[in-house]
Amino acid sequence: MKLTFAPGPSKVYDKLPEYMQDAYREGILSANHRSAVFMDLYQETETLFREKLHLPEDYKLLFTSSATENWEIIAQSVVESAAYHIFSGSFGKKWYDYAKHIEPKTHAHRIAPDETIDVASLEIGPEFDLISITQNETSNATQVRGNIIAEIANKYPDKIIAVDTTSSMGGIELNFQKADIWYASVQKCFGLPAGLGVLLVSPRAIAKAEAKGEKGRYNSLNFMLENAVQYQTHYTPNVFGIYLLKRVLKDLKEIQHVESRLVTRMRKLEDAIAKTTKFRMLVQNAEARSTTVLAVEGRGEFISQIKKAAEKEGMQLGGGYGPLKPTSFRIANFPAITDAEMDNLIQFLKQY
Ligand SMILES: *Cc1c(COP(=O)(O)O)cnc(C)c1O
Repeated sequence: MKLTFAPGPSKVYDKLPEYMQDAYREGILSANHRSAVFMDLYQETETLFREKLHLPEDYKLLFTSSATENWEIIAQSVVESAAYHIFSGSFGKKWYDYAKHIEPKTHAHRIAPDETIDVASLEIGPEFDLISITQNETSNATQVRGNIIAEIANKYPDKIIAVDTTSSMGGIELNFQKADIWYASVQKCFGLPAGLGVLLVSPRAIAKAEAKGEKGRYNSLNFMLENAVQYQTHYTPNVFGIYLLKRVLKDLKEIQHVESRLVTRMRKLEDAIAKTTKFRMLVQNAEARSTTVLAVEGRGEFISQIKKAAEKEGMQLGGGYGPLKPTSFRIANFPAITDAEMDNLIQFLKQY
């Protein structure tokens, strides 16, 4: 089996076979989603979000099918006038496209990958009631730091802030208090098979959804919240995925320790790339660079060469995303990848 460094779907935790066996043995796979067994599982998972990831007491955990579904839920069930989207890459652009399909007045504020958001010069008018931020842009390996999200929140206290942390939640510490909506899917930093999304909402976001009163769709947020109050879901959910998520969280160290491990490793990875002659980091500005995904740029022939050489060593590098595909590759610095595996990759990179 090749070890994948692709940033999603990504390497799953080594303990997955054990968790899967346990799910079968414990009988959870046939549990009814209105039963106490499921309600306990939901509640325990939410408690683990608070203990391990520091989710505030008054934020609610909801289960969805993917981050993509969360894009649509936010536009459909929370935005009342229009959303203001700030992004630098393909995932941010896709979120904007979904939102614009629902509300044509949706605004796109593009920044360059090497740029950080200049909060002082932001001018977001009263016609926008929600600000969308792609915190970790997986396509170009950039990240919006927590202090910038906090500055935006301070500048616009009346607007709802929604944050895409699909490829960072479970890997770095997020200051949930600074925004109302946070979401992810589990095939990135949570080291799990795809097919489950999580959506975390603040009391303010819940009140906003209630004020909007959007109802009647299978994934209307109000409908989801009505069920979530009793730790139930409105349709038969991915119980297996939720169980696996609970087990991953249970075995996870508290998030600040996970983050410091990833930060140390990223520094080593970046050093290794800086020392190569054929490659360089796609994002030159260190302040804009992600903690959990590294994008490396080089001439097309070198990119295909190194990918092939890595395959021979039993490693799969992540491909470049979208337009960056021929001239870049990406490396997931996700927690499920062990330090020994990362050291191996770093040794391999040092040959270049
Ligand atoms: C992967 C990813 C998504 C999409 O996730 P799905 O689970 O495929 O819907 C959205 N946003 C970001 C930043 C991502 O990395």
